[in-house]
Amino acid sequence: MSLLRRNVSLQPYHTFGVDVQTAYYAEVLNPTELRDLFSEYPEDAEDILVLGDGSNVLFTSPFEGLIIRPLLHGITIEKETDQYLILRAGAGEKWDDVVQWAVNRNLGGAENLSLIPGTVSASPIQNIGAYGVEVGQVIEEVEAFSIQTGDLVCFSPEECGFSYRNSIFKGSEKGKYIITAVSYRFEKNPELHLDYGDIRQRLEGIDNPTPADVRRVVSDIRTSKLPDPAILGNAGSFFKNPIISLGHAEKLRQQYPDIPLYYISETERKISAAWMIQQCGWRGKRIGKVGTYEKQPLVLVNYGGATGAEIFETAQIIQWEVEHQFEVALDIEVNVF
Ligand SMILES: Cc1cc2nc3c(=O)[nH]c(=O)nc-3n(C[C@H](O)[C@H](O)[C@H](O)COP(=O)(O)OP(=O)(O)OC[C@H]3O[C@@H](n4cnc5c(N)ncnc54)[C@H](O)[C@@H]3O)c2cc1C
Repeated sequence: MSLLRRNVSLQPYHTFGVDVQTAYYAEVLNPTELRDLFSEYPEDAEDILVLGDGSNVLFTSPFEGLIIRPLLHGITIEKETDQYLILRAGAGEKWDDVVQWAVNRNLGGAENLSLIPGTVSASPIQNIGAYGVEVGQVIEEVEAFSIQTGDLVCFSPEECGFSYRNSIFKGSEKGKYIITAVSYRFEKNPELHLDYGDIRQRLEGIDNPTPADVRRVVSDIRTSKLPDPAILGNAGSFFKNPIISLGHAEKLRQQYPDIPLYYISETERKISAAWMIQQCGWRGKRIGKVGTYEKQPLVLVNYGGATGAEIFETAQIIQWEVEHQFEVALDIEVNVF
């Protein structure tokens, strides 16, 4: 039986909830089905897109190619020592189930990344990060299907080229691989990362906090600040926090003494995109069916029935206004198609 379906609505498969169609759609359960799919689909076909839970994508027009959803499941222990445990998770597993699995066993490393929506497969793509931790710090290996050869290949963390919201899978190797599984290393005596935001403050009174304590605090902060995509369509932070030169940062600090700047290197500072967007009057502002979330202006929201093009246009207006006021370019974090 063919794995390919024609003219499928993508509305249930992405968190912005935009109503667009894809010309071809397929769900695969294992690498053999992936190989079967490519033997069925013309090899030179363009526009192949792999989709996880669609929590980091925006479709601005109908997708004319093939959308593949790898639903490979399974969570297995690959190795265990006195110090650490290596866990392998199939691409289709939910990222937060992996975090919960680790935390339930008092294993540390991923607790700061609690409640990030999406699948295991997408976790290395943009090197998901939150509260001072990035997933690249706990990834042991990424297994991927090569679209060109049909082979399974393994990437070490170094080969993945992780950086801020980036990896080779978003850069030089974009579109060449389909991630099938990821192995994570969790520590039995973890060093907890408590210095971001008010995590430490919220843990006051707890003598020896555990990964479960950190997960609880991070989850509380996230649910109080971020919109639930099941209620309001969104894809989390729409823009990245820009990195600017020290000279530019100092000039801005003279003009705006409260500007939030973070040390990156002797010559560079990271600047809060949310702060700049808010300064431009965009906290909770809405144009028609699109706006920024009232509690977090970095998040663009579909208030119901917006098209992807309308959401993208709003993003461009925000980019223009920020650039005009601060001379800082905002890069888009979400994958726009
Ligand atoms: C409310 C909310 C909060 C969020 N908070 C955070 C946060 O704190 N930190 C953060 O980093 N992100 C955050 N995000 C963004 C998002 O959750 C992550 O980027 C997540 O990893 C996306 O997973 P997904 O399965 O939905 O991927 P998708 O959106 O389906 O895909 C994302 C990208 O990965 C590619 N991809 C997916 N699967 C594969 C595969 N098997 N092989 C090759 N390429 C693949 C897709 O082609 C696409 O380019 C948030 C999103 C929302 C809605």
